[in-house]
Amino acid sequence: MKKIKAILLAAAMTLPLTACAAQQPDAGKAAADNRETVYQVALLQSLTQGYYDGIIKVSELKKHGDTGIGTFEGVNGEMIVLDGKVYQALGDGTVKEADDNETVPFSNVTFFDKDLTAPLSQMNDINSLKEALTKTVNENGKNLFYMVKINGTFEKMNVRSELKQEKPYKSLDKALATDQREFNYENIKGTIVALYCPDYMGGLNTPGWHFHFISDDKTKGGHILELAFSSAEAEFDATRDFDMYLSDNSEFQGMELAKDVSDAIKKVETNEK
Ligand SMILES: [Zn+2]
Repeated sequence: MKKIKAILLAAAMTLPLTACAAQQPDAGKAAADNRETVYQVALLQSLTQGYYDGIIKVSELKKHGDTGIGTFEGVNGEMIVLDGKVYQALGDGTVKEADDNETVPFSNVTFFDKDLTAPLSQMNDINSLKEALTKTVNENGKNLFYMVKINGTFEKMNVRSELKQEKPYKSLDKALATDQREFNYENIKGTIVALYCPDYMGGLNTPGWHFHFISDDKTKGGHILELAFSSAEAEFDATRDFDMYLSDNSEFQGMELAKDVSDAIKKVETNEK
């Protein structure tokens, strides 16, 4: 938002006063354009290396999107943001609406506007789903970001969450090695919230897909490891703008964030060991 305001201001300064008045309606356009932003808190790489301190409050995150994924301070559960509400799928398998004062070390959110839909038929595993969704992405433009929602009944839904970590924090793969908890559901109604990052995002996030799930009754959810379903419709929000929020904390500033942790990310984000 700040960036857009600055651009408008710069444009206004070069224009005669009468033209400035004519610029007014663009303020509304700037607000609308802001809906087309994927807002990211920190890096998946900082989380993977064990930076679990929350750097933004849930109340603030909500100003940047109504749909998305993430986690909470101390990796205290998986985050699912849906219809403007922030849900916390905890390591004990329960789900609650996150407190506004809870803080967030990593997240991606956007305001969801449906741009595309794709019907999905029988999917026997998560890789088939990735392939089907990627086909739509490739047809529409693989170098944009996509937030995707898939509501349906899932014959199989295997999710994980994790127990809250205490300081000193271990790296995420070490924390999950002992504190990951898996939950296997059958014939469960709910929504997948998925983020697609283009393949150039390997230094800031993970290229490709990242799936979280929440049940329709908001009692079950987590980070998806495996799934199966017979049919559903995927809704895509294609997004052109990317905004990243970082911590000025000295510990964060001391991290080597260009270190290649892609193997560790693959290990923690999928069930491929
Ligand atoms: Zn996740």
